[in-house]
Amino acid sequence: MKSLEAKSLVLLKHHMKVLRLPTVASECEKVAARCASDNVDHLTYLLQLLELELLEREKRSADRRLRAARFPPIKTLDTFDFAARPSVNKMLIAELVRCEYIDKRENVLMIGNPGTGKSHLAIALAAEACARGYRVRFFRTTELVTALIEARNELSFLRLKAQLAKLDLLVLDELGYVPASKVGAELLFDVVSTAYERTSLIVTSNLPFESWTEVLGSERLTGATLDRLTHRCRIIETKGESYRLQDAKARTRRTKDKPNGPAAESIVAAVAEAAAEVLAGPVDNSQAAQ
Ligand code: ADP
Ligand code: MG
Repeated sequence: MKSLEAKSLVLLKHHMKVLRLPTVASECEKVAARCASDNVDHLTYLLQLLELELLEREKRSADRRLRAARFPPIKTLDTFDFAARPSVNKMLIAELVRCEYIDKRENVLMIGNPGTGKSHLAIALAAEACARGYRVRFFRTTELVTALIEARNELSFLRLKAQLAKLDLLVLDELGYVPASKVGAELLFDVVSTAYERTSLIVTSNLPFESWTEVLGSERLTGATLDRLTHRCRIIETKGESYRLQDAKARTRRTKDKPNGPAAESIVAAVAEAAAEVLAGPVDNSQAAQ
């Protein structure tokens, strides 16, 4: 009897392997013992096992999607301090978390000074989309443009374009830090126009729209790019100064209030204030978007 059981188990494990049911294979004996002691019927036993397999499968594919998205270190909305960035509409972010904009192929543009949380929000929203089953890829814009330029005239160019075409959501972070070459700008326009009404884009930029010609070169190309990007889009403005500088200043103010606060802290404050002025330079938020 025992050897018969052992033989069945070997066969069972073999069949499960062929059927690609690794969790059923690893859990069937444990769950069988539990169900026997709880007097659970056969169908419920099977149900419990298959539920475990499904859960594990979903977890594995979520991990795969997250790896494929190539995020920089993950940020979440839990850690975003909305009180520190009042220009960001919390209700709009809560709506975007539901990912309906991806189903409707709409875009999200985030405009604001450096350090104001654009990448943080973009990563958090895109990671949420990943968790909900959407295919996502994160790129620093210059990284994508460089990859496209290098792959030009080669088979890998088509491969990269095919990968982009399969996405539900493409994040183009930091559009505007480095002006693109003429070829780079045309390739970027090609990405945006191919995505138009097929793939949602989240684009972050430190430049107000009227300065995008500085990056894309010609007014014609800038107009055409903005036309497609903004046709159906949500705009989030992260107005104000860098979060880290805000944070450093607040800490220094607290130390200054103390009678014998360390001198080093006031040096940090002075540096923070000077840097804030420099960083505030490029964006005039009053005109960034409407
Ligand atoms: P940007 O992309 O606008 O230049 P980042 O998103 O990279 O800015 O933000 C810079 C740093 O400050 C990151 O570590 C980010 O997590 C943090 N940060 C920015 N804004 C906030 C915020 N409102 N709450 C919490 N952390 C923030
Ligand atoms: Mg950024």
